[in-house]
Amino acid sequence: MSDTIAVITGASRGIGAALARGLLDPGVKLITLARRDDAELAAAAKAAGAELEQIKVDLSDLAGADTAARHVAALLAPGAKRYLLVNNAGTVHPVAAAAALTDGPAIAQAFNLNVTAVMLLTAHFVQAVAGFDAVRRVMNISSGAGRNPTAGWGTYCATKAALDMYTRVLNQEQGAGGVRAVSMAPGIVDTDMQGTIRASDPGHFPALSKFQDFKASGALAQPADVAGRLIAYLGRDDFGATEIDDIRNYK
Ligand code: NDP
Repeated sequence: MSDTIAVITGASRGIGAALARGLLDPGVKLITLARRDDAELAAAAKAAGAELEQIKVDLSDLAGADTAARHVAALLAPGAKRYLLVNNAGTVHPVAAAAALTDGPAIAQAFNLNVTAVMLLTAHFVQAVAGFDAVRRVMNISSGAGRNPTAGWGTYCATKAALDMYTRVLNQEQGAGGVRAVSMAPGIVDTDMQGTIRASDPGHFPALSKFQDFKASGALAQPADVAGRLIAYLGRDDFGATEIDDIRNYK
């Protein structure tokens, strides 16, 4: 029986990929979700003696997300010491000034991935682990963008603000003895998402040069460092003491 069963979305690249690799250990069962399988991760899991199940799904497709959430729940067998759900997959698209945010399906896709899929996965996770005598934790990977407005990111900021509030509602419902959740900003991290941001149209994203400078000046954090801190945070006794948090608060 696994000591820890950990579920990570968006584990194929960036922060999620680093989290998945950081969690690989004997006694860990890792369940990952992304649009593609990761052969390297499978090899790393085998070498580390960890159990791995990769679920290939487009989480912006709600039927797919629902099926995947039920599949994940069925894998959360009783008897583990820890059950972790890290809702990490996300998108910054569409980047456009509010007056130009007219592509309804693109906006809906972002909300589906950044918010609705999180809610579906969390609901099935919470149901599956209800009553388990175990550590049960949800970490939603949020962003400073959910807490401070950034021009051009009307969609992204709104999704992350929604994620923050959803986390608070979940904690209020679950109470002291239930699943504990945190909405955690990871800092500014050197991933494909930052590349996407640097490729934004300056006409729609006035902060473009600031983000180009982050990369040029070496100010971006490395995914493996951030993942290490997130994993350490997942193990803290005071996990969730601050429900809307930023990993940069933990050195
Ligand atoms: P990346 O773009 O590097 O990786 C995103 C991950 O999400 C990939 O594994 C991707 O896998 C997966 N993903 C994207 N779309 C879908 C989809 N439709 N269905 C399933 N999986 C999907 O992002 P980061 O690692 O940078 O970001 C991770 C999280 O951190 C996000 O929630 C982001 O908002 C947040 N964040 C990142 C910051 C940064 O500076 N990087 C700053 C603040 C917050 P695949 O393409 O294989 O499906």
